[in-house]
Amino acid sequence: MFEGDLLFQASSLKMVRNSVKKNLSQFSFLLLILMYVGCSSPSGPSSIELWAAQNGKVKVLSTTAMIDNIVGEIGGDRINHIPLITGEIDPHSYELVKGDDEKLSLAQIIFYNGLGLEHGASLRYQLEHHSNAIGVGNIVFKKDPSLILRVDQEIDPHLWMDISIWSKIIDPIIEALSQIDPAGKEEYQMRADRLREKMLQEHQQIYRDLQAIPEEKRYLVTSHDAFNYFTRAYLATPDEKNMSQWKKRFDAPEGLAPEGQLSASDIQAVIDHLIKYHIQTVFPESNVSRDSLKKVVHACARSGLQVTISQDALYGDAMGPQGSDADTYLKMICHDANVLIEAWK
Ligand SMILES: [Zn+2]
Repeated sequence: MFEGDLLFQASSLKMVRNSVKKNLSQFSFLLLILMYVGCSSPSGPSSIELWAAQNGKVKVLSTTAMIDNIVGEIGGDRINHIPLITGEIDPHSYELVKGDDEKLSLAQIIFYNGLGLEHGASLRYQLEHHSNAIGVGNIVFKKDPSLILRVDQEIDPHLWMDISIWSKIIDPIIEALSQIDPAGKEEYQMRADRLREKMLQEHQQIYRDLQAIPEEKRYLVTSHDAFNYFTRAYLATPDEKNMSQWKKRFDAPEGLAPEGQLSASDIQAVIDHLIKYHIQTVFPESNVSRDSLKKVVHACARSGLQVTISQDALYGDAMGPQGSDADTYLKMICHDANVLIEAWK
């Protein structure tokens, strides 16, 4: 709190701010050393301690694991990087927990998604007041607004669900890392070029694999509105994409942020959609409660319509746990494609 307050008060004077930041970072480092000496487990330092260590590397914090993974690929061993929101936690409404303030004030760069994703008040406040917080989605939107989708007039923040669009966050990441570590610029660029190529190859492969599924089967229903970009990129026919008629291929009972508040008409709208497009399986998301899908399925059963919830969950707002088949950004999108291919073939 102390560090956050000081940073906020100094925000109008850049020089003062820089000097305060420098002192704070020394103060925080001392604190961390004390914590490290006092609290380290016999098995060695935790990932947070390793991240915060004063080893000359750029300390980067990303709000989501999907951003952190791309940052790590580009930064390599020149940076220390961690995600703020880990595990199966909803990034839309994430509020800061104990220890987050310290990570936010120690970070030399913070990458966040933007486009309204991180709307928890305490996190949003910190992002707005950090001297070097970069909203990668906001930059993509500014460069090419036509890439960004809207749902009922509201901007859809889930742009990572289309790999080709997510590859556009690479340039802002190189730029921000190079600004703070100019000596690493060529290295960042080299790794980023390789990553971009790999991402675009994967994008094409997933497109081909999903387009090989008969088009009458490619209708997706999940828990919340996280799969619009995925649907436009991989499930729509080329004509539907060109004529903006792909929206019928995706539906969800919950809106852009999963809130679990469902009205009878929300449920009926999904049931009508299921009937219209002969959909028999709906897909849960790893970090969203299955309650609303269960309500839909039970309401279907009452009307004599048999719909089942897939055993395999999709990853929408979070990557899978370490060691799973979705523990990197690209593996996460491949996992989703594979689950759908398996269910629809
Ligand atoms: Zn979401």
